Amino acid sequence: MIDFDNSFSRLLPQMFTAQDPTPVRAPQMLAVNADLAAQLGIDADWLTSDGALRVLSGNVVPDGSAPLAQLYAGHQFGNWNPQLGDGRAVLLGEVIGTDGIRRDIQLKGSGRTPYSRGGDGRAWLGPVLREYLVSEAMAAMGVPTTRALAAVATGEDVMREAALPGGILTRVARSHIRVGSFQIHAARQDIPALQALADHVIARHYPDADGIPALLSGIVAAQAQLIAQWMGLGFIHGVMNTDNMAVSGETIDYGPCAFMDAYNPAQVFSSIDRGSRYAYANQPGIAVWNLAQLATALIPLMPDQDAAIEDFTQRINHFSDLYQAAWVQVFGAKIGLSDPQPADADLIQRLLTLMAQDGADFTNTFANLAGPHAQDQFTDRDAFAAWVGDWEQRRAPDYAQIMERANPQIIPRNHQIEAMISAATAGDMAPFHALLRAVTHPFDPLTAGRAPFAKPPTMQEVVTATF
Ligand code: AMP
Ligand code: MG
Ligand code: MG
Repeated sequence: MIDFDNSFSRLLPQMFTAQDPTPVRAPQMLAVNADLAAQLGIDADWLTSDGALRVLSGNVVPDGSAPLAQLYAGHQFGNWNPQLGDGRAVLLGEVIGTDGIRRDIQLKGSGRTPYSRGGDGRAWLGPVLREYLVSEAMAAMGVPTTRALAAVATGEDVMREAALPGGILTRVARSHIRVGSFQIHAARQDIPALQALADHVIARHYPDADGIPALLSGIVAAQAQLIAQWMGLGFIHGVMNTDNMAVSGETIDYGPCAFMDAYNPAQVFSSIDRGSRYAYANQPGIAVWNLAQLATALIPLMPDQDAAIEDFTQRINHFSDLYQAAWVQVFGAKIGLSDPQPADADLIQRLLTLMAQDGADFTNTFANLAGPHAQDQFTDRDAFAAWVGDWEQRRAPDYAQIMERANPQIIPRNHQIEAMISAATAGDMAPFHALLRAVTHPFDPLTAGRAPFAKPPTMQEVVTATF
């Protein structure tokens, strides 16, 4: 059973619409996350029961749940969309975990809502399993992220380019409140809703913030840290629209996301991102752009708006210092520095430049940098040897241990995710479970059984688009 306490549903009615999930024909449990259930105070035995299947497929609304679709707006690829919202998801409610943290439990792929626009409200198994796997890998690598509690097959087809098996993800998040959740009330000049949302976010995520300016600074700092962590893993979110940026600082809405194999700062995996707006190297700049939209949405709450514009501009501009500091910490640890300093950015950047020249495998270069075969990734052996000379002067005595904790051996690689999705679509979940097990133990040594998951794709296996 789930012990709900639904604080969002107690906010103003114009912030959401009550909406039950739409039942499905023949649900089947595909994956459950017992560790996460324990953290949430949910009985792991219940999670594998028929009762849980009925709830997590949307066929039964459990006691204490008050399902709702949240309203938001957003800038999609830079273009303002005044009306979005949960078009294929419902918030079942919130739980307070054994760690005292309040979290949302959401069904994604649960049917139409008033915000579905032309969509069917459903998801197919591919993106459901991709999000399950990638979000759990991110959590295992210490990145703030939404989590996956369960994946259900609906027993119904969804129509995409072809008929595909439907799925529902049970997603767990500190909240699903997005930059776009603020934008919609600002655009509607609905000050009571804007204020209620700000108060809710402060109480829930930024309890030390003593007002709107401090809230903005808190979100700026959380995003600077988050994006630096993405960059340190070669992670590309792929669709950093303002409705896909959570104010909690968690990674949310895994769509056309991907981890790079070969390092290329201009890398994009989404076929709809034609302008490369959300390329790897653009992510910090896009975060600033999104945070500026958030700041704009918060201005109506300020008594002196001219002064607030100036103050908020400074708070947004502070992102760049915070991000640079976080980036040096993240990448400094990746090369075994115990006390990374701003001046180390040059040493890190020199390595990245060599990696980019050769399209070196991002993950494996760092994972093997302290090993005997590090130079194999580079064609310019002299330049790499010179870099190693400078690195040896700078790295910590216990650099190898620092690097083991900072550099995953295994990330979810696109070609393996695609193979897993193909198998699952054909009814074979074994590759999903094997890959999940590998990517949720990213820092463990590479045993013979794990080694295949660390292999970059062959030329034939390379995936160029995840969407
Ligand atoms: P996304 O690109 O997944 O962030 O979604 C953008 C917006 O489109 C959100 O409001 C989604 O809820 C909505 N949406 C995406 N797919 C569907 C679908 N199949 N049915 C209804 N709404 C959808
Ligand atoms: Mg309502
Ligand atoms: Mg979204």
